[in-house]
Amino acid sequence: MHTDLVAALDIGGTKIAGALVDGDGRLLVRAQRATPAREDGDTVMRAVEEVLGELTAAPLWARVRAVGIGSAGPVDASAGTVSPVNVPGWRGYPLVARVRAATGHLPVELIGDGVAITAAEHWQGAARGHDNALCMVVSTGVGGGLVLGGRLHPGPTGNAGHIGHISVDLDGDPCPCGARGCVERIASGPNIARRALEGGWRPGPDGDTSAAAVAAAARAGDPVAVASFERAAQALAAGIAATATLVEIDIAVIGGGVGKAGEVLFAPLRRALTRYATLSFVQRLTVAPARMGTDAGLVGAAAAALSRAAGATVAGV
Ligand SMILES: [Zn+2]
Repeated sequence: MHTDLVAALDIGGTKIAGALVDGDGRLLVRAQRATPAREDGDTVMRAVEEVLGELTAAPLWARVRAVGIGSAGPVDASAGTVSPVNVPGWRGYPLVARVRAATGHLPVELIGDGVAITAAEHWQGAARGHDNALCMVVSTGVGGGLVLGGRLHPGPTGNAGHIGHISVDLDGDPCPCGARGCVERIASGPNIARRALEGGWRPGPDGDTSAAAVAAAARAGDPVAVASFERAAQALAAGIAATATLVEIDIAVIGGGVGKAGEVLFAPLRRALTRYATLSFVQRLTVAPARMGTDAGLVGAAAAALSRAAGATVAGV
């Protein structure tokens, strides 16, 4: 088993990354293309095939036993299709069949990108050693995934744990998903920045209106910036508390650009959790920043492929 490798693909709206990965999660060969996100579906697929072409040309390819794909969602793992919101050329696109054809018909495991990040954090990051965990990506959107009973829980279609579209504000703002008051509508980076601007916060001379700029202002004590992060923290806490109450997680890991805001986010988040996670069995719930870096999607996709190649017996995956 340990001499075997897997191929991993991390497919997002801006880049398509690939790697050959060993049983310890080391990335041995890498390839990458920009995602031609505005082009037709076949053009996007050609970029994927170029990445796979570099990987299959590597001498180590002979040891590859399975392929793992973490894709921007929604995905449908049961049908083998993807419909990434930011790649309009792919709607119900048969990605698994196309990747299988390009890789000599190896087994292919498809999961959503939030689930992939979760697999990576559970294998090697902040959720390591936790049998019940929620991992979240808070950036342009809000995604997530679950580990339950020591195992990744992708759900039938590969989207389980998509906490960004739980409603935490019943009559709140309409969300692009069609619901109202979703966690993402309040806690994503663009929404943190939007709320700060609406409250009168103004960027510095560099004109940077990103959530990172709002975080810097909050650290400097700007009350509007602080309030915008407190509101985001409140939405995250309500979603995390609901998840903990339903399935008894003991840690919530938060990554993505907003997760890098540090105590500007985590201090109000811990305070808000004491107000929402009140029952005895969720009171020991902790929150922690993600530890995996930009390779988390690849490492998580590899974890999913390894667990399939090993018949779901890989320790910790
Ligand atoms: Zn929504």
